[in-house]
Amino acid sequence: MTIANDPNLVSWLSIPADSDFPLQNIPFGVACLSHNECFIATRIGDNVINLALLHRLGYFNALNIEANVFNAPCLNPLMKQGKCGIRALRDRIATLFSSGNVELQNCVEHQREAIYNVDVVRMMLPVQIGDYTDFYSSKEHATNVGMMFRDPENALLPNWLWLPVGYHGRSSSIITSDMAVRRPKGQTKLEGENPVYGPSKRVDFELEMGFITFDGKPLGERITTDEAEEYIFGLCLFNDWSARDIQQWEYVPLGPFLAKNFASSMSPWIVTLDALQPFKVESPVQNPPVLDYLKFEGKKSYDIQLEVFLQPANGEENRICSSNFKYMYWNMAQQLAHHTVNGCNIRCGDLMGSGTISGPTPDSYGSMLELAWKGTLPIAMSDGTTRTFIQDFDTVIFRGFCRQKELRIGFGEVRTQLLPAFE
Ligand code: CA
Repeated sequence: MTIANDPNLVSWLSIPADSDFPLQNIPFGVACLSHNECFIATRIGDNVINLALLHRLGYFNALNIEANVFNAPCLNPLMKQGKCGIRALRDRIATLFSSGNVELQNCVEHQREAIYNVDVVRMMLPVQIGDYTDFYSSKEHATNVGMMFRDPENALLPNWLWLPVGYHGRSSSIITSDMAVRRPKGQTKLEGENPVYGPSKRVDFELEMGFITFDGKPLGERITTDEAEEYIFGLCLFNDWSARDIQQWEYVPLGPFLAKNFASSMSPWIVTLDALQPFKVESPVQNPPVLDYLKFEGKKSYDIQLEVFLQPANGEENRICSSNFKYMYWNMAQQLAHHTVNGCNIRCGDLMGSGTISGPTPDSYGSMLELAWKGTLPIAMSDGTTRTFIQDFDTVIFRGFCRQKELRIGFGEVRTQLLPAFE
Protein backbone atom coordinates (compact mmCIF):
# COMPACT_ATOMS: atom_id res chain seq x y z
CA MET A 1 0.00 0.00 0.00
CA THR A 2 1.22 3.50 -0.74
CA ILE A 3 1.88 5.89 2.17
CA ALA A 4 -0.88 8.23 1.02
CA ASN A 5 -3.53 5.50 1.32
CA ASP A 6 -2.90 4.91 5.04
CA PRO A 7 -6.34 5.53 6.60
CA ASN A 8 -4.70 6.59 9.87
CA LEU A 9 -2.92 9.60 8.35
CA VAL A 10 -4.08 12.91 9.80
CA SER A 11 -3.13 16.30 8.43
CA TRP A 12 -1.95 19.41 10.25
CA LEU A 13 -4.19 21.33 7.84
CA SER A 14 -7.79 21.55 8.98
CA ILE A 15 -10.10 19.42 6.86
CA PRO A 16 -13.90 19.72 7.19
CA ALA A 17 -15.69 16.53 8.23
CA ASP A 18 -17.11 14.82 5.15
CA SER A 19 -14.70 16.58 2.80
CA ASP A 20 -14.13 14.85 -0.53
CA PHE A 21 -10.45 15.66 -0.18
CA PRO A 22 -8.88 14.09 2.91
CA LEU A 23 -5.14 13.46 3.06
CA GLN A 24 -5.79 10.02 1.51
CA ASN A 25 -7.10 11.55 -1.73
CA ILE A 26 -4.40 13.88 -3.14
CA PRO A 27 -6.04 14.49 -6.54
CA PHE A 28 -4.33 16.48 -9.27
CA GLY A 29 -5.61 19.46 -11.20
CA VAL A 30 -4.62 22.70 -12.89
CA ALA A 31 -5.37 25.90 -11.00
CA CYS A 32 -4.88 29.57 -11.60
CA LEU A 33 -5.00 32.70 -9.46
CA SER A 34 -6.46 35.74 -11.18
CA HIS A 35 -4.13 37.13 -13.87
CA ASN A 36 -1.42 34.62 -13.06
CA GLU A 37 -0.10 31.61 -14.86
CA CYS A 38 -1.55 28.19 -14.28
CA PHE A 39 0.11 25.69 -12.02
CA ILE A 40 -0.30 22.06 -11.10
CA ALA A 41 -2.20 21.73 -7.85
CA THR A 42 -3.59 19.30 -5.36
CA ARG A 43 -6.38 19.77 -2.88
CA ILE A 44 -6.58 18.92 0.83
CA GLY A 45 -9.87 19.89 2.48
CA ASP A 46 -10.67 23.40 1.23
CA ASN A 47 -7.02 24.16 0.55
CA VAL A 48 -5.65 24.27 -2.98
CA ILE A 49 -1.92 23.68 -2.90
CA ASN A 50 0.45 25.11 -5.49
CA LEU A 51 2.80 22.24 -6.32
CA ALA A 52 4.90 24.38 -8.67
CA LEU A 53 5.73 26.66 -5.77
CA LEU A 54 6.47 23.80 -3.38
CA HIS A 55 8.78 22.39 -6.03
CA ARG A 56 10.56 25.74 -6.39
CA LEU A 57 10.96 25.92 -2.61
CA GLY A 58 12.70 22.54 -2.65
CA TYR A 59 10.10 20.35 -1.02
CA PHE A 60 10.21 17.79 -3.86
CA ASN A 61 13.99 17.75 -4.35
CA ALA A 62 14.26 14.04 -3.60
CA LEU A 63 11.83 13.19 -6.42
CA ASN A 64 13.96 14.47 -9.28
CA ILE A 65 11.08 15.99 -11.27
CA GLU A 66 11.76 18.97 -13.52
CA ALA A 67 10.14 22.33 -12.80
CA ASN A 68 8.30 22.52 -16.12
CA VAL A 69 6.21 19.51 -15.07
CA PHE A 70 4.56 21.71 -12.42
CA ASN A 71 4.59 25.01 -14.32
CA ALA A 72 2.29 23.61 -16.95
CA PRO A 73 -1.20 24.45 -18.19
CA CYS A 74 -2.19 20.77 -18.12
CA LEU A 75 -1.39 17.52 -16.30
CA ASN A 76 0.15 15.84 -19.36
CA PRO A 77 3.82 16.47 -18.43
CA LEU A 78 3.10 15.16 -14.94
CA MET A 79 1.42 12.07 -16.37
CA LYS A 80 4.57 11.45 -18.41
CA GLN A 81 6.26 10.64 -15.06
CA GLY A 82 4.25 7.43 -15.15
CA LYS A 83 2.46 5.55 -12.41
CA CYS A 84 5.55 5.15 -10.19
CA GLY A 85 6.57 8.81 -10.48
CA ILE A 86 3.11 10.03 -9.56
CA ARG A 87 2.82 7.50 -6.74
CA ALA A 88 6.06 8.85 -5.24
CA LEU A 89 4.82 12.43 -5.57
CA ARG A 90 1.49 11.59 -3.97
CA ASP A 91 3.28 9.86 -1.09
CA ARG A 92 5.60 12.84 -0.63
CA ILE A 93 2.64 15.26 -0.50
CA ALA A 94 0.83 13.04 2.03
CA THR A 95 3.98 12.93 4.18
CA LEU A 96 4.57 16.67 3.96
CA PHE A 97 1.06 17.47 5.18
CA SER A 98 0.87 14.73 7.84
CA SER A 99 0.70 15.59 11.51
CA GLY A 100 4.15 15.17 12.95
CA ASN A 101 5.94 16.42 9.85
CA VAL A 102 7.03 20.00 10.54
CA GLU A 103 9.02 20.83 7.38
CA LEU A 104 6.27 23.02 5.96
CA GLN A 105 4.13 23.28 9.06
CA ASN A 106 6.84 25.36 10.72
CA CYS A 107 7.22 27.71 7.78
CA VAL A 108 4.24 30.05 7.80
CA GLU A 109 5.70 32.15 5.01
CA HIS A 110 5.88 29.21 2.61
CA GLN A 111 2.35 28.21 3.57
CA ARG A 112 1.09 31.68 2.77
CA GLU A 113 2.74 31.50 -0.65
CA ALA A 114 1.65 28.02 -1.63
CA ILE A 115 -1.70 27.31 0.04
CA TYR A 116 -4.91 29.08 -1.01
CA ASN A 117 -8.55 28.80 -0.08
CA VAL A 118 -10.50 27.03 -2.79
CA ASP A 119 -12.69 30.13 -3.23
CA VAL A 120 -9.88 32.30 -4.61
CA VAL A 121 -8.69 29.78 -7.17
CA ARG A 122 -10.01 29.12 -10.66
CA MET A 123 -9.83 25.52 -11.84
CA MET A 124 -8.91 24.88 -15.45
CA LEU A 125 -9.46 21.96 -17.82
CA PRO A 126 -6.96 19.55 -16.24
CA VAL A 127 -5.81 17.55 -19.25
CA GLN A 128 -4.96 18.30 -22.83
CA ILE A 129 -7.08 15.51 -24.20
CA GLY A 130 -5.78 13.77 -27.28
CA ASP A 131 -8.45 11.28 -28.17
CA TYR A 132 -11.81 10.84 -26.53
CA THR A 133 -13.59 7.50 -26.68
CA ASP A 134 -17.06 6.99 -25.30
CA PHE A 135 -18.33 3.57 -24.28
CA TYR A 136 -21.87 2.34 -23.75
CA SER A 137 -21.22 -0.04 -20.88
CA SER A 138 -24.22 0.12 -18.53
CA LYS A 139 -26.56 -2.76 -19.18
CA GLU A 140 -29.44 -0.97 -17.47
CA HIS A 141 -28.93 2.11 -19.65
CA ALA A 142 -28.59 0.16 -22.89
CA THR A 143 -31.69 -1.86 -21.98
CA ASN A 144 -33.75 1.25 -21.18
CA VAL A 145 -32.77 2.95 -24.42
CA GLY A 146 -33.44 -0.24 -26.38
CA MET A 147 -36.88 -0.53 -24.81
CA MET A 148 -37.76 3.06 -25.67
CA PHE A 149 -36.51 3.17 -29.25
CA ARG A 150 -36.55 -0.41 -30.44
CA ASP A 151 -38.04 -3.65 -29.27
CA PRO A 152 -38.94 -3.99 -25.58
CA GLU A 153 -38.56 -7.77 -25.91
CA ASN A 154 -35.07 -7.58 -27.42
CA ALA A 155 -33.83 -4.32 -26.01
CA LEU A 156 -30.12 -5.18 -26.18
CA LEU A 157 -28.58 -5.43 -29.64
CA PRO A 158 -26.93 -8.81 -30.36
CA ASN A 159 -23.35 -7.53 -29.88
CA TRP A 160 -23.95 -5.81 -26.55
CA LEU A 161 -23.28 -8.75 -24.21
CA TRP A 162 -20.19 -9.77 -26.21
CA LEU A 163 -18.16 -6.58 -26.40
CA PRO A 164 -17.94 -3.14 -24.77
CA VAL A 165 -19.61 -1.02 -27.46
CA GLY A 166 -17.88 2.31 -28.03
CA TYR A 167 -17.32 5.10 -30.54
CA HIS A 168 -14.75 7.82 -31.11
CA GLY A 169 -15.92 11.15 -29.76
CA ARG A 170 -14.51 14.65 -30.05
CA SER A 171 -11.97 16.08 -27.60
CA SER A 172 -11.96 19.75 -28.68
CA SER A 173 -15.32 20.48 -27.04
CA ILE A 174 -14.56 18.93 -23.64
CA ILE A 175 -14.75 21.62 -20.98
CA THR A 176 -14.44 21.70 -17.21
CA SER A 177 -16.82 22.65 -14.39
CA ASP A 178 -18.40 26.11 -14.17
CA MET A 179 -18.29 26.68 -17.91
CA ALA A 180 -21.72 27.22 -19.46
CA VAL A 181 -22.96 25.33 -22.50
CA ARG A 182 -25.13 26.77 -25.28
CA ARG A 183 -28.20 24.85 -26.35
CA PRO A 184 -27.16 23.34 -29.68
CA LYS A 185 -28.97 23.88 -32.95
CA GLY A 186 -29.27 21.31 -35.66
CA GLN A 187 -31.57 19.17 -37.74
CA THR A 188 -34.47 17.41 -36.12
CA LYS A 189 -37.34 15.55 -37.67
CA LEU A 190 -40.79 14.65 -36.43
CA GLU A 191 -42.52 11.51 -37.64
CA GLY A 192 -44.07 12.06 -41.07
CA GLU A 193 -42.63 15.56 -41.55
CA ASN A 194 -39.59 17.03 -43.27
CA PRO A 195 -36.56 17.81 -41.12
CA VAL A 196 -36.21 21.34 -39.72
CA TYR A 197 -33.26 23.37 -38.45
CA GLY A 198 -33.42 25.00 -35.04
CA PRO A 199 -32.53 24.72 -31.34
CA SER A 200 -32.65 21.21 -29.89
CA LYS A 201 -35.75 20.65 -27.75
CA ARG A 202 -34.32 17.60 -26.01
CA VAL A 203 -31.05 18.56 -24.39
CA ASP A 204 -29.98 15.94 -21.88
CA PHE A 205 -27.08 15.05 -19.60
CA GLU A 206 -25.41 11.65 -19.43
CA LEU A 207 -24.08 10.64 -16.01
CA GLU A 208 -20.67 9.15 -16.75
CA MET A 209 -17.23 8.80 -15.29
CA GLY A 210 -14.13 9.35 -17.40
CA PHE A 211 -10.70 7.82 -17.02
CA ILE A 212 -7.44 9.33 -18.21
CA THR A 213 -4.70 7.15 -19.63
CA PHE A 214 -0.92 7.13 -19.46
CA ASP A 215 1.07 6.40 -22.59
CA GLY A 216 0.13 2.94 -23.81
CA LYS A 217 2.05 0.48 -25.95
CA PRO A 218 3.35 1.03 -29.50
CA LEU A 219 0.86 0.84 -32.37
CA GLY A 220 0.07 -2.78 -33.10
CA GLU A 221 0.36 -4.11 -29.56
CA ARG A 222 -2.48 -4.70 -27.16
CA ILE A 223 -3.04 -4.10 -23.44
CA THR A 224 -4.50 -7.04 -21.52
CA THR A 225 -7.12 -6.81 -18.78
CA ASP A 226 -4.35 -7.75 -16.32
CA GLU A 227 -2.20 -4.84 -17.43
CA ALA A 228 -4.95 -2.29 -17.99
CA GLU A 229 -4.93 -0.55 -14.61
CA GLU A 230 -1.21 0.20 -14.97
CA TYR A 231 -2.16 2.44 -17.89
CA ILE A 232 -4.88 4.39 -16.04
CA PHE A 233 -3.88 7.64 -14.31
CA GLY A 234 -7.18 8.54 -12.69
CA LEU A 235 -10.89 9.28 -12.92
CA CYS A 236 -13.20 12.27 -13.09
CA LEU A 237 -16.92 12.96 -13.22
CA PHE A 238 -18.07 13.35 -16.79
CA ASN A 239 -21.26 14.88 -18.18
CA ASP A 240 -21.56 13.82 -21.80
CA TRP A 241 -24.15 16.34 -23.00
CA SER A 242 -26.55 15.02 -25.60
CA ALA A 243 -29.25 16.41 -27.89
CA ARG A 244 -31.67 13.51 -28.16
CA ASP A 245 -33.79 14.89 -31.01
CA ILE A 246 -30.74 15.64 -33.17
CA GLN A 247 -29.31 12.23 -32.29
CA GLN A 248 -32.45 10.36 -33.29
CA TRP A 249 -32.40 11.79 -36.81
CA GLU A 250 -28.66 11.71 -37.54
CA TYR A 251 -27.29 8.56 -35.92
CA VAL A 252 -27.98 6.01 -38.67
CA PRO A 253 -25.72 4.46 -39.95
CA LEU A 254 -22.47 5.85 -38.45
CA GLY A 255 -23.61 6.70 -34.93
CA PRO A 256 -23.99 9.97 -33.05
CA PHE A 257 -22.29 13.08 -34.41
CA LEU A 258 -23.52 16.65 -33.79
CA ALA A 259 -25.88 15.47 -31.06
CA LYS A 260 -22.89 14.64 -28.88
CA ASN A 261 -19.93 16.80 -29.88
CA PHE A 262 -21.21 20.25 -28.85
CA ALA A 263 -19.90 19.77 -25.29
CA SER A 264 -18.89 17.32 -22.58
CA SER A 265 -18.05 18.56 -19.08
CA MET A 266 -15.40 16.97 -16.84
CA SER A 267 -14.70 17.68 -13.17
CA PRO A 268 -11.42 19.54 -12.57
CA TRP A 269 -9.75 17.18 -10.05
CA ILE A 270 -8.43 13.87 -11.32
CA VAL A 271 -8.58 11.29 -8.53
CA THR A 272 -5.81 8.76 -9.04
CA LEU A 273 -6.60 5.10 -9.47
CA ASP A 274 -4.23 4.56 -6.52
CA ALA A 275 -6.50 6.60 -4.22
CA LEU A 276 -9.48 4.47 -5.25
CA GLN A 277 -7.90 1.11 -4.39
CA PRO A 278 -9.76 0.73 -1.04
CA PHE A 279 -13.06 0.88 -2.92
CA LYS A 280 -12.60 -1.99 -5.35
CA VAL A 281 -15.56 -4.37 -5.60
CA GLU A 282 -16.60 -7.39 -7.63
CA SER A 283 -18.05 -6.68 -11.07
CA PRO A 284 -21.54 -7.79 -12.14
CA VAL A 285 -21.74 -11.38 -13.37
CA GLN A 286 -21.31 -11.53 -17.14
CA ASN A 287 -23.51 -13.98 -18.97
CA PRO A 288 -22.82 -15.31 -21.59
CA PRO A 289 -19.19 -15.77 -20.51
CA VAL A 290 -16.95 -13.30 -22.33
CA LEU A 291 -14.27 -14.18 -24.87
CA ASP A 292 -10.82 -14.93 -23.46
CA TYR A 293 -9.29 -11.51 -24.15
CA LEU A 294 -12.06 -9.90 -22.06
CA LYS A 295 -11.73 -12.26 -19.08
CA PHE A 296 -10.20 -10.76 -15.96
CA GLU A 297 -8.96 -11.77 -12.50
CA GLY A 298 -9.90 -10.15 -9.22
CA LYS A 299 -11.84 -7.00 -8.49
CA LYS A 300 -11.97 -4.51 -11.33
CA SER A 301 -15.03 -2.43 -10.42
CA TYR A 302 -15.17 0.53 -8.03
CA ASP A 303 -17.85 1.49 -5.52
CA ILE A 304 -18.36 5.18 -6.34
CA GLN A 305 -21.66 6.79 -5.35
CA LEU A 306 -22.89 9.23 -7.96
CA GLU A 307 -25.54 11.92 -7.72
CA VAL A 308 -27.13 14.30 -10.18
CA PHE A 309 -28.77 17.57 -9.14
CA LEU A 310 -30.84 19.91 -11.28
CA GLN A 311 -30.97 23.54 -10.22
CA PRO A 312 -33.49 25.80 -12.00
CA ALA A 313 -32.47 29.44 -12.52
CA ASN A 314 -32.38 31.16 -9.10
CA GLY A 315 -33.83 27.97 -7.58
CA GLU A 316 -32.57 25.30 -5.27
CA GLU A 317 -30.88 22.04 -6.12
CA ASN A 318 -33.10 19.00 -6.72
CA ARG A 319 -31.49 15.61 -6.52
CA ILE A 320 -32.85 13.70 -9.49
CA CYS A 321 -30.57 10.65 -9.62
CA SER A 322 -28.47 8.46 -7.32
CA SER A 323 -26.40 5.85 -9.12
CA ASN A 324 -23.10 4.00 -8.66
CA PHE A 325 -20.09 3.34 -10.88
CA LYS A 326 -20.10 -0.29 -9.69
CA TYR A 327 -23.23 -0.99 -11.78
CA MET A 328 -21.16 -0.88 -14.99
CA TYR A 329 -21.40 -4.23 -16.77
CA TRP A 330 -18.10 -3.73 -18.62
CA ASN A 331 -15.25 -2.48 -16.39
CA MET A 332 -12.39 -0.16 -17.32
CA ALA A 333 -9.91 -3.03 -17.72
CA GLN A 334 -12.20 -4.69 -20.25
CA GLN A 335 -12.80 -1.41 -22.06
CA LEU A 336 -9.06 -0.79 -22.42
CA ALA A 337 -8.36 -4.39 -23.44
CA HIS A 338 -11.07 -4.21 -26.06
CA HIS A 339 -9.96 -0.77 -27.29
CA THR A 340 -6.42 -2.03 -27.96
CA VAL A 341 -7.12 -5.62 -29.02
CA ASN A 342 -6.79 -4.69 -32.70
CA GLY A 343 -3.49 -2.90 -32.06
CA CYS A 344 -5.01 0.58 -31.64
CA ASN A 345 -2.65 2.61 -29.45
CA ILE A 346 -3.62 4.89 -26.60
CA ARG A 347 -1.64 7.93 -25.54
CA CYS A 348 -0.95 9.97 -22.45
CA GLY A 349 -3.99 12.18 -21.90
CA ASP A 350 -6.63 10.17 -23.72
CA LEU A 351 -10.07 10.25 -22.09
CA MET A 352 -12.41 7.26 -21.99
CA GLY A 353 -16.05 7.86 -21.05
CA SER A 354 -17.84 5.02 -19.31
CA GLY A 355 -21.16 5.60 -21.00
CA THR A 356 -24.28 6.61 -19.09
CA ILE A 357 -24.31 4.91 -15.69
CA SER A 358 -27.82 3.76 -14.88
CA GLY A 359 -28.68 1.50 -11.96
CA PRO A 360 -31.51 -0.99 -11.46
CA THR A 361 -34.13 1.39 -10.02
CA PRO A 362 -35.89 4.33 -11.73
CA ASP A 363 -34.23 6.86 -9.38
CA SER A 364 -30.81 5.59 -10.47
CA TYR A 365 -31.20 6.23 -14.20
CA GLY A 366 -28.37 8.38 -15.50
CA SER A 367 -30.13 10.61 -18.05
CA MET A 368 -33.30 12.67 -18.35
CA LEU A 369 -34.29 10.47 -21.27
CA GLU A 370 -34.64 7.56 -18.85
CA LEU A 371 -35.65 9.45 -15.67
CA ALA A 372 -38.61 11.06 -17.48
CA TRP A 373 -38.98 8.03 -19.75
CA LYS A 374 -38.83 9.76 -23.14
CA GLY A 375 -40.84 12.71 -21.88
CA THR A 376 -43.77 10.69 -20.54
CA LEU A 377 -43.01 11.00 -16.79
CA PRO A 378 -42.19 14.65 -15.96
CA ILE A 379 -39.91 15.11 -12.94
CA ALA A 380 -41.15 17.49 -10.23
CA MET A 381 -38.88 20.28 -9.01
CA SER A 382 -39.19 21.82 -5.54
CA ASP A 383 -40.32 25.12 -7.09
CA GLY A 384 -43.44 23.47 -8.53
CA THR A 385 -42.18 23.25 -12.12
CA THR A 386 -41.45 19.98 -13.91
CA ARG A 387 -38.79 18.78 -16.34
CA THR A 388 -38.63 16.21 -19.08
CA PHE A 389 -35.36 17.55 -20.50
CA ILE A 390 -33.02 20.39 -19.52
CA GLN A 391 -34.39 23.93 -19.81
CA ASP A 392 -32.46 27.11 -20.59
CA PHE A 393 -30.67 28.47 -17.51
CA ASP A 394 -30.95 25.16 -15.63
CA THR A 395 -27.72 24.05 -13.97
CA VAL A 396 -26.80 20.36 -13.90
CA ILE A 397 -24.47 19.25 -11.11
CA PHE A 398 -22.78 15.86 -10.72
CA ARG A 399 -21.17 14.80 -7.45
CA GLY A 400 -19.39 11.56 -6.65
CA PHE A 401 -17.63 9.96 -3.73
CA CYS A 402 -16.55 6.66 -2.21
CA ARG A 403 -17.10 5.84 1.42
CA GLN A 404 -15.84 3.08 3.65
CA LYS A 405 -16.14 3.47 7.42
CA GLU A 406 -14.53 6.84 8.23
CA LEU A 407 -12.77 7.19 4.89
CA ARG A 408 -14.40 9.28 2.19
CA ILE A 409 -12.66 9.96 -1.11
CA GLY A 410 -14.56 12.24 -3.46
CA PHE A 411 -14.42 13.94 -6.81
CA GLY A 412 -15.95 17.30 -5.90
CA GLU A 413 -18.40 18.29 -8.59
CA VAL A 414 -18.91 19.18 -12.21
CA ARG A 415 -21.43 21.98 -12.65
CA THR A 416 -22.74 23.28 -15.96
CA GLN A 417 -25.43 25.80 -16.80
CA LEU A 418 -27.33 25.46 -20.06
CA LEU A 419 -27.72 28.80 -21.85
CA PRO A 420 -30.17 29.54 -24.68
CA ALA A 421 -29.11 28.78 -28.24
CA PHE A 422 -27.30 31.48 -30.19
CA GLU A 423 -29.50 33.39 -32.63
CA1 CA B 1 -22.06 9.11 -23.68
